[in-house]
Amino acid sequence: MINLILFGPPGSGKGTQAAKLVDHFNLVHISTGDLFRYEMGNNTPLGLEAKSYMAKGQLVPDSVTIGMLKNKVDQHPEAQGFIFDGFPRTIPQAEALDQLLNGMKAPITALVKLDVGDEEIVQRILGRGATSGRTDDNDESVIRKRIDVYKSETTPVYDFYDEQGKSHSVSGTGTIEEIFDRLTTLIEGLS
Ligand code: ADP
Repeated sequence: MINLILFGPPGSGKGTQAAKLVDHFNLVHISTGDLFRYEMGNNTPLGLEAKSYMAKGQLVPDSVTIGMLKNKVDQHPEAQGFIFDGFPRTIPQAEALDQLLNGMKAPITALVKLDVGDEEIVQRILGRGATSGRTDDNDESVIRKRIDVYKSETTPVYDFYDEQGKSHSVSGTGTIEEIFDRLTTLIEGLS
């Protein structure tokens, strides 16, 4: 079993690369952002709660996010492994994920971070916002808030897995194929 965390700031290309990696390595893709957007689209209580945080660029509370993630993992007993995209974003989320996967005797294999500079991220997200219909992608102040939250609350997760010897990073700039090649080379080289 191979369990990957695809890590990096908002707009770093996690979703794009995750879609390619799941095909290549035959994994199940779990994006907490996509799950929240699905719930929002269906106006569920979970979706309505998430919406109030997402619109402001804040994180949805850990209790809500962790519960949703566990449900999703439990729905895939057949999985040969997972790619976690946009999760974990806080230390409590990382601790909960480790506990869940250790219970399945399938710990995280590696965390891989896509490195992209702040100004490129802002431009990419504004570009995506023009067509994606995501309200959190249209407002530059919300985008900058998400980058701040990433730096303050999410980057500690990189160090958390670094202490386990599992954190890696690759450049997230270049063509989609170039970045995909960097990721597959790195992942195939893991012991
Ligand atoms: P991006 O990485 O481009 O910001 P995502 O789709 O991953 O996009 O996340 C969008 C929003 O969903 C976040 O700004 C946050 O409000 C919420 N969200 C997604 N994943 C999490 C998480 N693991 N914990 C808390 N909130 C989350």
